[in-house]
Amino acid sequence: MTGLAEDGGLLLPRAIPRIDRATFESWQPLSYSKLAYEVMSRFIDDIPTTDLKALINKSYDTFTDEQIVPHVHLDDLHILELFHGPTLAFKDIALQFLGNLFEYLLAKDDGCLNILGATSGDTGSAAIYGVKGKERIRIFILHPHQRISEVQEKQMTSVADANVYNLAVKGTFDDAQAAVKAIFSDIEFKSKHHLGAINSINWARILAQVVYYIYSCLHVAGHEKNSAVSFSVPTGNFGDIFAGYIAKKMLPEGCISKLVLATNSNDILSRFVNEGDYSLGEVAATSSPSMDIQAASNFERYLYYLMDREPDLVREAMLKFSVDGKLYLQNYLAHIKRDFAASSISEDEVEQTIARYYQDYHYILDPHTAVGVRAAEQHRDQGVAMVCLATAHPAKFGATVEQAIGRQLDLPPSLSELDGKPTRCEVMDCSIEELMAYIESHALNGS
Ligand SMILES: *Cc1c(COP(=O)(O)O)cnc(C)c1O
Repeated sequence: MTGLAEDGGLLLPRAIPRIDRATFESWQPLSYSKLAYEVMSRFIDDIPTTDLKALINKSYDTFTDEQIVPHVHLDDLHILELFHGPTLAFKDIALQFLGNLFEYLLAKDDGCLNILGATSGDTGSAAIYGVKGKERIRIFILHPHQRISEVQEKQMTSVADANVYNLAVKGTFDDAQAAVKAIFSDIEFKSKHHLGAINSINWARILAQVVYYIYSCLHVAGHEKNSAVSFSVPTGNFGDIFAGYIAKKMLPEGCISKLVLATNSNDILSRFVNEGDYSLGEVAATSSPSMDIQAASNFERYLYYLMDREPDLVREAMLKFSVDGKLYLQNYLAHIKRDFAASSISEDEVEQTIARYYQDYHYILDPHTAVGVRAAEQHRDQGVAMVCLATAHPAKFGATVEQAIGRQLDLPPSLSELDGKPTRCEVMDCSIEELMAYIESHALNGS
C-alpha cells in the first residue's frame, strides 16, 4: 500500500519468478481471471488462495466484455482491447483490482485510508471507480476546474457514492498537482489523516498489468501458430510498458520478442531508447493527453535492471536527473535496444492512422491507440506477431476521432447514460490551506 519506499525510491519484488515452458503452455485454456490468479500468486504470498481468487473475480466482474481483454485481428495486426472496464480506459484493469485489494487489506488491519490525488482526466476517474462505495476508503480527487473534457468531468462527478469527493480547483493541472505534492510533504498531516496515493508508481498496479501481456501471448500464439509476439505500447509514465518488460522476464526465452515504446510528440522516452538521451523538454498538449508527460514516473524501475540491479547507481542517476533534468545513457544503448524499440508519432500521423484504419477495416482507434499502431507499423519483423495495446475507447476522445473519420461516433452505454445524471463537485481556490481544511473535515478517522 506504500507508494514510495522510505528512501524516496520505488519498490520492486526481490526476484522475478520464471515460468517454464510446460507451465506456460498449460495456461493456454485459462480464462483471464484464472490466469490473473496464476500470475499474481507468484508474487503474492500473504493472501490466502480463496481470498485472492475472490478479489480478482470481483475486480473483473465489472468489465463488459466476457473475455475482459478481447483481441481484434486486422489482417496480421492484433489489437488488444484494454478498455472494457467502467471508465473505458486501460487503467481500470489495475485500479479495479487495487480498490478491492486495498479494501481487503484495510479490513484485515482494521485500518482506513484517505486517497488524495490530482488528475488531468483518466487516472482520476479510474481511481474513483476503483474505490467508490468501499467502506474504509475515502477519495479526494482534484481536477483543474473547466480544464478537462466534458466526458471526463461527467464520469467523475456523476458518481453518487458518499466516499467520493470531487474537488474542482481553479487553476491548471500543474497547480493541482503541486498542491497535492505540498499536502503530501506535510508528513504530520499525512500520517494523522492516513493519506495515501493511487498513482502509477504503485507496484500492485504494475503487477495487474503483467497479466494481459501473458494472456495475449497465449492467445495470439494459438491464433497464428507463432511462438514469438511483439507488443506496441502507447507510453506516458512507463507503467504499462514496464509491465510488459516484467512479463518478458517471466516467460520462457523468445515468447516476447520486441517491446515497442510509442510516444506522441512528448518524446523523452523514445529519445532515450533511440539515442540514450533522457533529457526533459517542455510538455506539449496533444490529442493523446494521457501521454503528455515528460519525466516518466516508472522509469527508474527499468534503470534498476539496466544498471545491473545496483541501487546505488540508480540513486546516483536519479539524483543527477533531479538536478540537471537530463541523463545521458549512451553507454547502455546496446542493452536498451535489446529491450525496446521506439518511435515518436506526430499529430498528423495520429489523425491519418485513425482515418486509414477506419477506411481499411472499419475499425476505430482512439488517439492513444493510434500512436501505438503507427509505431507498430514501423517495427514489424517477419514471422513475429504484433499486438497493439488499445488503451482507451475512441468515444472517450470523441472530438479528435470524429474529426479524423468524418462522422459521429456511437456512444457506449456507460457514456450515454451519463447524460442528465446529477453531478456533485466542490469548486474551490487552489489554496493549500483550504484544501487541507476540507480534507480535515471530510477524511475518515481511525487507526
Ligand atoms: C495512462 C494512459 C496511457 C499511458 O500509460 P503509462 O502507463 O502511463 O505509460 C496510455 N493511454 C491511455 C488512454 C492512458 O490512460
